[in-house]
Amino acid sequence: NHLASRLRAASLGREDAPFLHLPASGQTTSYGDFFANAEKLAAVLVDAGVGPGDRIAVQAPKTQTMLELYVASVLAGAVFLPLNTSYTGSELEYFLTDASPRVFVCDPARLESLGPIAAKAGVTKVFTLTADDGGTLAEAKEASSAGFVPVVRGSDDLAAILYTSGTTGRSKGAMLTHGNLASNAETLRDVWKFTRRDVLIHALPIFHTHGLFVATNVTLMAGSACHFFAGFDSSAIMDSLPRATVLMGVPTFYVRLLKEAGLPEATASMRLFISGSAPLLAETHEQWRNETGHAILERYGMTETNMIASNPYDGPRKPGTVGLPLPGVEVLVTDPQSGTPLDQGEVGMLEVRGPNVFGGYWQMPEKTAEELRASGFFVTGDLGQIDGDGYVHIVGREKDLIITGGYNVYPKEIELLIDDLSEVAESAVIGVPHPDFGEGVVAVVVPSPGASLTGEDVLRKISGSVARYKQPKHAVIIDTLPRNTMGKVQKNALREQYSGIFE
Ligand code: ATP
Ligand code: MG
Repeated sequence: NHLASRLRAASLGREDAPFLHLPASGQTTSYGDFFANAEKLAAVLVDAGVGPGDRIAVQAPKTQTMLELYVASVLAGAVFLPLNTSYTGSELEYFLTDASPRVFVCDPARLESLGPIAAKAGVTKVFTLTADDGGTLAEAKEASSAGFVPVVRGSDDLAAILYTSGTTGRSKGAMLTHGNLASNAETLRDVWKFTRRDVLIHALPIFHTHGLFVATNVTLMAGSACHFFAGFDSSAIMDSLPRATVLMGVPTFYVRLLKEAGLPEATASMRLFISGSAPLLAETHEQWRNETGHAILERYGMTETNMIASNPYDGPRKPGTVGLPLPGVEVLVTDPQSGTPLDQGEVGMLEVRGPNVFGGYWQMPEKTAEELRASGFFVTGDLGQIDGDGYVHIVGREKDLIITGGYNVYPKEIELLIDDLSEVAESAVIGVPHPDFGEGVVAVVVPSPGASLTGEDVLRKISGSVARYKQPKHAVIIDTLPRNTMGKVQKNALREQYSGIFE
């Protein structure tokens, strides 16, 4: 039941099979070498005093060694804790103090500033890791030997703590067990039909659930190979498409690739395109299908729950939906106030139960008790509905729901209307303080390339299509929406920026 043995099962006896193709260096790492390196690093960790349950915090560039360190932490019975590479010193101080790791790994360029912070947080050993797989961690690996025997762990023991993206507030540490991660990856491998013949394009960060668990664990568990990119670069991805079979991306990957010439030829031999982490516009789905003939498969998940729902591999992939609950995963729609289940088709809080659901927030027992019911259902904070075919539709986050003059406005309904205008590329609808209505609806609109559009135009064009209370009272035109690395629109930042608009 050890996550490490489940990650390794598919490649046992085929140690020479390729796991990582590194486009930057042109080198390929076999399964055998990858796991031997992970064993060496596990021995390094234990030498550094790491025991079962100790946290290994890492803020380092995306490299093969960092991926090996993830498996090494699991082998050593420790808890892997990757941190967003864009976190600043003061953010790191919060995370390290909160997580109190035994070991901290960082880029040597940040050692001077982060070393003292780590020491203050109780870290006893700091290693460095560079973007080209150098640093003291890589040196210690070279000096170590393989053959590490995995430290015994059960399904309910922690394998990782992953901080949420911080889209709605301060990031929370989600405690994920061996059983959570292994069961979800096995399910995804099966529903997406991954086999050892697959070659995944891996261009996502590995400090987030999408790139670390979905992309990496599924590849390992199927014994597939991947093109392992340090980051997303459209032209590099175009080069790799003809030699790959699956792409996993956030919606912005698809939006950017649609600007490349030669997409139909490049994607001709691809098997599957998957999108998640943020809503994929139905329009992007259609454009991709027109251009390439492939229907992007959209799925839905969260740091706390791993993946929850996915459009089907064989059945219809409905644009604008996140598909059906995964096998073994239950999804309920409940009244956000009372928690009682709603009738089919009604919009409410999405709640999730299954072997994928985390054990709680790290050092936040009250928050855990609020969101994780005794029945095992986790209250996601996402609002949605389930249609007559069982497909889950997400309408937005509860925290983004606008209450104006006592009426609820779902931003997505208004965003879809605005996005339908030919002069509009995309939009975000938010609520900001309003002296009379509590909150006033504001539309933040990005025009299509070349279109000239004013805020008044937007308001006028949608005024006939929706009830008056839902209509934005103000619309602003901007060049781009603020997004984080996972392509999530930062509505908090927008709310702050436009907070004074009705004063
Ligand atoms: P925080 O919880 O710290 O505010 P976050 O919720 O953005 O940040 P993640 O766990 O990375 O952190 O993201 C999970 C959220 O991403 C989901 O709750 C959902 O709102 C959104 N999401 C994921 N996949 C999709 C999708 N396919 N369509 C729409 N939203 C999605
Ligand atoms: Mg969240």
